[in-house]
Amino acid sequence: MNWITNYVRPTINSLFSRKETPDNLWTKCPECGTMLFHRELKNNQNVCVSCDHHMHITPRDRFTALFDGGIFTEVSVPAPIEDPLKFKDQKRYPDRMKAAQKSTGEKEAVLVAEGEIGRTPIVAAAQDFSFMAGSMGMYLGNAFIAGVERAIELKRPFIMFSAAGGARMQEGILSLMQMPRTTVAIEMLKEAGLPYIVVLTHPTTGGVTASYAMLGDVQIAEPNALICFAGPRVIEQTIREKLPEGFQRAEYLLDHGMLDRVTHRTSLKGELTTILRMLGNQPAAVAGELPAPAKVEEASEEEATTATAVETTSEAESENTPQEEQQA
Ligand SMILES: [Zn+2]
Repeated sequence: MNWITNYVRPTINSLFSRKETPDNLWTKCPECGTMLFHRELKNNQNVCVSCDHHMHITPRDRFTALFDGGIFTEVSVPAPIEDPLKFKDQKRYPDRMKAAQKSTGEKEAVLVAEGEIGRTPIVAAAQDFSFMAGSMGMYLGNAFIAGVERAIELKRPFIMFSAAGGARMQEGILSLMQMPRTTVAIEMLKEAGLPYIVVLTHPTTGGVTASYAMLGDVQIAEPNALICFAGPRVIEQTIREKLPEGFQRAEYLLDHGMLDRVTHRTSLKGELTTILRMLGNQPAAVAGELPAPAKVEEASEEEATTATAVETTSEAESENTPQEEQQA
């Protein structure tokens, strides 16, 4: 883990790659048609203020809203082989990758980070639907495993925010191999006794639904998210029957026992913190907005000594331990 490569460089890169002023200051809600001011939309984590429609959110924006004080450290992911099949459809695979990297300013379709939510340390990964439909390729497998290994190393819970159109076809069978790989990684978490929580966001489909997105200890979904293996259109065409209203949407799946919760994006942080603290046998979190976690070095030595002194007074009476030893 190198602070410069994992935190400083991505921050600088994202500063330069981001557009200074958006082309259009207004976004039209695809659900209700309301014109939404960019800043207002961003403050509401890309949820329409008028109809509560949950739009796509990039992993970086999600993590900024999720982690205390918006502070998180990226977990480095080993790079896989580039274009192993020399795949070409209308475009060459490396060209598609370059275009996606340019439009999103991200390296790949998933971001792994560690930090604290409600003063509860976690490791989290989020898929980026705007990057090649968040497709599951070798990089995603590597990212998932890197996140799980980091969670085990730090003894922290692992949270996955899924969003994907399925497996990355340009990698053929190698993309499907990520299903057993991620499943084995989840087993590693289970053996270590650490919680694995999935937050399913719109849309979570295909091989992603068929593997790690359905294996959480707790399954949470965002409102109205489409969660399926084969989509409703494909099913309708195959069975030639009209599907029920809201089929394969989060609320429908909750009613039919596929999910534990459907949670509004703006309530996710509080709910995740409560669940994690309950699972971790920790006291309830402090309510309200918390300041950024303080760096250990920042606390002055004088303060630390007073704090330790107060803590040890009662014990010192019975044990008579030298104070210096207690501080060590
Ligand atoms: Zn709307």
